[in-house]
Amino acid sequence: RPQHMLDQSSIDALRSAPVTPKLHLIDGAALPASDGQMMDVISPLDGSVLTQTACGTAADIEHAVKSARAAFEDGRWSQMPPAGRKKVLHKWADLIEANALELAVLGVRDNGTEISMAIKAEPFSAAGTIRYYAEALDKVYGEIANTDPAFLGMIHREPVGVVGAIIPWNFPLMIGAWKLGPALAAGNSVVLKPSETASLTLHRLAELALEAGLPKGVLNIVFGEGAVVGEALGLSMDVDVLVFTGSGGTGRRLLEYSARSNLKRVYLELGGKSPHIIFADAPDLDAAAMAAAGGIFRNSGQVCVAGSRLLVQAEIHDDFVAAVAKNAANFKVGDPLDMTTQMGAVNSARQLEQNLGFVDTATAQGADLMHGGNRILQDTGGYFMEPTIFTGVGARDDIAQKEVFGPILAVTTFKDEAEAISLANSTPLGLAAGAWTSDLGRAHRMIRAIRAGVVHINTYGGADNTVPLGGMGQSGNGSDKSMHAMDKYVDLKTAWIRL
Ligand code: NAD
Repeated sequence: RPQHMLDQSSIDALRSAPVTPKLHLIDGAALPASDGQMMDVISPLDGSVLTQTACGTAADIEHAVKSARAAFEDGRWSQMPPAGRKKVLHKWADLIEANALELAVLGVRDNGTEISMAIKAEPFSAAGTIRYYAEALDKVYGEIANTDPAFLGMIHREPVGVVGAIIPWNFPLMIGAWKLGPALAAGNSVVLKPSETASLTLHRLAELALEAGLPKGVLNIVFGEGAVVGEALGLSMDVDVLVFTGSGGTGRRLLEYSARSNLKRVYLELGGKSPHIIFADAPDLDAAAMAAAGGIFRNSGQVCVAGSRLLVQAEIHDDFVAAVAKNAANFKVGDPLDMTTQMGAVNSARQLEQNLGFVDTATAQGADLMHGGNRILQDTGGYFMEPTIFTGVGARDDIAQKEVFGPILAVTTFKDEAEAISLANSTPLGLAAGAWTSDLGRAHRMIRAIRAGVVHINTYGGADNTVPLGGMGQSGNGSDKSMHAMDKYVDLKTAWIRL
């Protein structure tokens, strides 16, 4: 098990290792930005400059897209027999696992996630995803249609060509692999733009891909600002599919870029405001209280499926919320490289400021601050916040409607199943949900009634690669993970033959 890799002395040996400045990776070569600009990488652990990366330009994107296109067209990867692609992807997964601790520590220094979570959720999750698609790639068949016998109708699945991938900072390796696994397995070339505030591990991941035998030019990494290189990727006339995880605002921009350029297909995994519903007949209220706390406080709430709205049935409300608060009080917050820490640093000064702004707004709108609410450990220079709980949150309050992406739980009470469903569906978002009940019929009614891409019953989070993750409503379109994700990276082509 991944956690067995963790021992404090190995982590400590890596925690201050120098990190050399990183350049783009284009056509297998390390290249500076076309204008030579670099940007600082700030560590949220102490606010220090960890290293620098290239700060890309639109010209860099054009170069990377050209390299990806050339690689696709000459068939060095797209036409490689599936067994060959499979071998490379498995080797890549092996290398990710062999370098898991190094990757995990580097990632934590870059984005602040506690390492107890990152070791599993980042390198090991990424390796598992790459393996899943390595195994899948030669099990995808074309189809023969049931046509008039005078004709043969065949349906081919072809790689789309060049995929642009724009990745957020909260789980760069896990989410990066959700895109790279199926995109590369299908034979495409990729230009990947990591987030400005968590880019280092994705760069290392791409280096390991080259080492595993992925041909040059098939996976290109361009660092830079969203508004510059992200926009250039979105507007490229030679990117066929754009895949994205991040905020709704950026998602809307990407749709515009597509409309203004080549109508590339755009797949969006956006945020959530996920309801976590506790019925009085929950089979295990202690487990539910622990899951409710873990579901919002791990990784400082910077989890797209975070159960950020806790809906509690009136008759158990006070006791249950007290149990969640007790869990919150016991949460060990602090040094993300301490393997016993349960909640590390907030990713950036900007995110921390945004979280604290939500605390002020919630208070102003009349919610009761029951626990936390403050920045802590300021003397470290890092960005840390207390687990925070508001009770008495109105369904229309900002913290009930807007994604905070921080360790802030909004608690609302409900009377009965109908009210729970109505509250659950009262936002435009629909990424995840959870319900705790011993009533099998009610569990199935909740699954049907809640508008969300995943509904957890008597557990929260943790769904693996075998099942899709995708949003309903304004949480996005298309799915990551599972065989369904492959659909985003292929075109269907019909062959219609007179016999
Ligand atoms: P963000 O939208 O600010 O940034 C995401 C990526 O988009 C970054 O790489 C950024 O550089 C890039 N970007 C920013 N502006 C751009 C522009 N104008 N054009 C092109 N690219 C641009 O989001 P974030 O702060 O990095 O991530 C947090 C958000 O991501 C939260 O809302 C969270 O819910 C969401 N998220 C969703 C999922 C999911 O699976 N649905 C998973 C993780 C995070």
